[in-house]
Amino acid sequence: MLYHLRLKGNGAHMIGSCDEVDPASGVPTCVTCGYRTDPDFTNPGFRMRRRRLDISCCYDGAVVVSDRFRTLYASLGGSNLRFVDLPKAPGFHHLTCITPVALDYAAMGTQCLRLCTGCGRHLDVVGCGTLVLAPGAFLAGNELAFADRYFGSHNEAIPLLLCGELLAKAIGAAGLAGIDACEPVAMTQQG
Ligand SMILES: [Zn+2]
Repeated sequence: MLYHLRLKGNGAHMIGSCDEVDPASGVPTCVTCGYRTDPDFTNPGFRMRRRRLDISCCYDGAVVVSDRFRTLYASLGGSNLRFVDLPKAPGFHHLTCITPVALDYAAMGTQCLRLCTGCGRHLDVVGCGTLVLAPGAFLAGNELAFADRYFGSHNEAIPLLLCGELLAKAIGAAGLAGIDACEPVAMTQQG
């Protein structure tokens, strides 16, 4: 069983608002559409406001985790996440995913709209109710992964978090703060 983790917001932006990036963040942008080209960009000046959250989401989709989360994940042998240091937010890390998991977007009814010819990115990716795993996709019980498409519009494209059962239970047992909902991911129907 896999779970879709919905995270609490930490009240901060990593690189700027939905429509405008903060130039001080240093994030690269597309000359055609003006939006960020790297959804995993880490702003070295990022500051953490809600420091009691162990796993949380910025308005613009960046996932931030605490040392407690990192230690728990490592104790289970996880190896699919990168923990990028945040010099202005000691004790926290920007999370990125090494190998994302494919979902069945047709089965989910996801729509990818407004393709930018400059950066090749869809400016709107919408429609994600229950997540459906693509045929043959796999994630180990001790792992966490992002889905292979980010959802949302403009600079606020947000990764969907998929979590194995063992890790989900360990997060609950350890009382880590920041998960709003933990919903089962469906498997693709055969045939
Ligand atoms: Zn663009």
